[in-house]
Amino acid sequence: MHAALSNIGALDAAHHLHPFSDMKKLNAAGTRIIERGEGCYIYDNHGKKYLDGFAGLWCVNIGYGRKEIADAAYKQMNELTYYNTFFGTTTPPTVLLAQKITSHAGPNINRVFFTGSGSEANDTWFRMARVYWAAMGKPTKKTVIARVNGYHGSTVAGASLGGMKWMHEQGDLPIAGIVHIGQPYWYGEGGDLSPADFGLKMARELEAKIDELGEDNVAAFVAEPIQGAGGVIVPPETYWPEIARICKARNILLVTDEVICGFGRTGHWFGHQHFGVEPDLAPIAKGLSSGYLPIGGVMVSDRVADVLVNEVGDFNHGFTYSGHPVCAAAALENLRIIEEEKLVERVHDDVGPYLAAGLKSLEDHPMVGQTQSAGLMAAVQLAENKSTRKRFEDRERAGVEVRNHCLANGLVLRATGDRMLFSPPLVITRGEIDQMIEITRKGLDHAWKVMKG
Ligand SMILES: *Cc1c(COP(=O)(O)O)cnc(C)c1O
Repeated sequence: MHAALSNIGALDAAHHLHPFSDMKKLNAAGTRIIERGEGCYIYDNHGKKYLDGFAGLWCVNIGYGRKEIADAAYKQMNELTYYNTFFGTTTPPTVLLAQKITSHAGPNINRVFFTGSGSEANDTWFRMARVYWAAMGKPTKKTVIARVNGYHGSTVAGASLGGMKWMHEQGDLPIAGIVHIGQPYWYGEGGDLSPADFGLKMARELEAKIDELGEDNVAAFVAEPIQGAGGVIVPPETYWPEIARICKARNILLVTDEVICGFGRTGHWFGHQHFGVEPDLAPIAKGLSSGYLPIGGVMVSDRVADVLVNEVGDFNHGFTYSGHPVCAAAALENLRIIEEEKLVERVHDDVGPYLAAGLKSLEDHPMVGQTQSAGLMAAVQLAENKSTRKRFEDRERAGVEVRNHCLANGLVLRATGDRMLFSPPLVITRGEIDQMIEITRKGLDHAWKVMKG
């Protein structure tokens, strides 16, 4: 290790507050220090190599260490480091990025509002939806319906839109005007219903909630096409078409949060395409730049954009870094790589199905209740008794045992309760997928032994 870095752990404990962390516990345990990344691998300060089955935090879609991105950012930084987009000005990479994004989003989406993150993107559409309805002469259409166990970021609006109870408990959330319906989580909550019937049942909670609130008071429904942080919950096939039908029939905006699902993750450019529905608004971030620099945005359909452009006048919203030229240049290069290397097609036709088959091979394991995937977004549902769908008493522990064993064996996975989550870089090879499945099986063997005594 570099001599100057020898006390990074101590300095981290002394000076750095981590997101979503119990700092006392973390400081006692010590942080892992990651120093280098290459392809699908990261390296810690002891030189230990890990296969990153989680692409950082769902974002490093093109893999680590791509010099083309560094070069694009360097070039832009030398040319124009920063300029704002507030006062009648714009910068070339920002414009080209907006055009590039929308070229993949279907004929009804032609505009992007840029932000610095996925959370800001959710704050942005939340205001935009209300401004839209006010301009349409329906100022009472303000309430947004979201879902239990959804994730839409960590700002005040983002955390309120999210349905994480343990987040709401801190800071008196959700804010007014946001309500939640249930999630289409068949394995955990479907009871005796078939997945198809359960999917319809959960979608119809939206209809019931609109009836309860009154259609004239509802602005929008928001959901991730596939819940990410909530546990990679792939909804039954009946779910999304019914949601889209209800939004249309009741005249409320449909918002798909594409922050994880976008940019190839599911084997399509966007998650809504995976389910064949069309959103009115769609927040994006993460894979937009593959995490090389922070940038997010909202894709805005013509339905909303035409009103914003022609009726609203000033939309009093934006960020210093909206459309940051260096971040935009990096994102543009990232999308060029995704296109040129046909990564979306690769996920759809090759590594996505290959991962699905690998996961299926784990279904003979006594601890595996179900596996689910869409492209390179996948989950292994743990179970204590797979024939009855009985889950462990201590779900957290079951997941943590698998995760920690995998980590010790050089594979980074995430555990959300008793679901093991996979979201590797889109450049992952079949060989690396084999490795991921093999280490996961060992982790399952270990955890099964521990949990069943
Ligand atoms: C990560 C995430 C966000 C928040 O993005 P940040 O860049 O962390 O603010 C929002 N929505 C979804 C679906 C996410 O996964």
